[in-house]
This record gives sequence, C-alpha cells and structure tokens, in this order.
Amino acid sequence: MSSTIKLEIVTPAGKKYSGEIEYLRVPAMDGEIGILPGHTPLVTGLKIGLLEIKKGTERLVIPISEGFIEVTPGNINVVVRTAELPEEIDVERARRAKERAEKRLNGLNGEEVGLEYIDYVRARAALERALARLKAAETNGR
Ligand code: ATP
Repeated sequence: MSSTIKLEIVTPAGKKYSGEIEYLRVPAMDGEIGILPGHTPLVTGLKIGLLEIKKGTERLVIPISEGFIEVTPGNINVVVRTAELPEEIDVERARRAKERAEKRLNGLNGEEVGLEYIDYVRARAALERALARLKAAETNGR
C-alpha cells in the first residue's frame, strides 16, 4: 500500500491545495476523522473547524467552513465554502469578526423560536469561523 494519498482542497474560488500527504484530520459532521492512505471509501459532511495535514515533519493547519469530503483508495477530495492557507489568514479581520459575533451573541439568548434563533445560529457560526482562523494562524506560526 502507498504511504501517501493525494489530497485536493477546492473552494468556490478555485483549488486551494493539491499534493501527496501522509495523514489528514477533518472536522466531520459527527466528529473528528483521521484519514491515512488506504482508508475505506467515504463521503461525509464537514463542519466549521480545523483541517490538519501531515507529511513527514510538515504539519499544516487550515481553517475551513462547511463542505464535504470524499475519500477513495487513492484520493481525498475536500470541497468547502471557505479555506485559507497560512499566508492568507488576516488575523486582524478574524479578531474583528470574533468581536462582532460575540457582541451579537451577548444581545441574543438563543431561544429556539422566531427570527432571533436564526440570528443566534448565524452569530455562532461567524464566531466559530473566526476562532478557527485565529487558532490556525497561531498553530501554523509555531
Ligand atoms: P468576515 O465577517 O470577516 O467577512 P466571515 O466569516 O463572514 O468573515 P466568510 O463568509 O467565511 O467570512 O468568507 C468570505 C471570504 O473571505 C472567503 O473567501 C474567506 O476565505 C475570506 N475570509 C474571511 N475571513 C478571512 C480572514 N480572517 N482572513 C483571510 N480571508 C478571510
């Protein structure tokens, strides 16, 4: 069995990443999944969080928002709404987004009725995206 597997990460803006990797960890709908070469075929949804790529001593952490992953014996395809490479992450922008989302959440109580709940879900998602970007920026900088 090959010791690497080809990974492609695609967003609406185009191809974000393409390369042979040794290990991938993704935030799947029902929990984190680790994928090694030879993983059984799989299609599942992805949620906002951090995707981690390992190859040799290299480790790359990429913040993603919603999407899906398809694993076949020789390939992994990740299709997500957003993903930023380390050099693309604007830390100040993520900090501002985090503050905005926190302010909005403080003014809402998250009750499961009416328009307020939709605002709550949106603000939670915005906060999760900002936190993932900040965490990735911090982790890759190490
Ligand atoms: P903001 O409120 O700052 O726009 P957001 O979470 O609402 O943040 P998204 O809708 O997830 O933004 O993304 C819109 C586009 O902007 C995507 O192309 C995404 O990659 C990019 N983007 C968002 N935040 C950042 C950031 N902090 N650094 C770099 N690119 C970002």
